[in-house]
Amino acid sequence: MARAWISIGSNLGDRTANCMLAVSMLSAFARVASVSSAYETEPVGPKDQPDFINCAVEIETSLPPEKLLAELMSIEETLGRVRSGRWRERKIDLDILFYDDLIMNTDALTIPHPRAHLRRFVLGPLAEISPGLVHPVLGATVPELLGILEDGERVVIAAPPSAIFPQKPTGY
Ligand code: ADP
Ligand code: MG
Repeated sequence: MARAWISIGSNLGDRTANCMLAVSMLSAFARVASVSSAYETEPVGPKDQPDFINCAVEIETSLPPEKLLAELMSIEETLGRVRSGRWRERKIDLDILFYDDLIMNTDALTIPHPRAHLRRFVLGPLAEISPGLVHPVLGATVPELLGILEDGERVVIAAPPSAIFPQKPTGY
């Protein structure tokens, strides 16, 4: 079994419900080990779009990274994501942040996610569930990465983890 960290975001429709549905769909091919609070976050890039709800989820899965990405994209499709451009509004977005301590870079998939360490909306939720996690390329923990972040976008807790995952996560 591999351990992976997924970042989920939505800024269209019922944002929290979209995230909740995405996590419940993860359960089809993964064990949900831990789920962060729901964070309301200011968009990075174009500001003429609604704020996001973001969360981070730790899963255990037997899927290899490429298959995991395919499953995440199928969740996006099922939940009705229309791709309107990079950094634009979206009903749901699921990204692989880390996959064990794997480092890989292909046309389809870069792990760790190349912008994870630059984003407060990623690092904030991640620090809540996995403060000891070390970035395999940068060699720093998530709280350390948060400490040197220049990104000034607003990131505040909007709802508890139970709003995203009403069941009990499996934990370690
Ligand atoms: P973004 O999340 O950067 O706004 P998209 O969600 O539209 O953009 O994803 C664009 C592409 O990013 C996907 O088709 C996927 O192949 C690629 N990608 C590369 N690395 C990752 C990763 N770690 N997690 C998710 N997608 C990734
Ligand atoms: Mg994405």
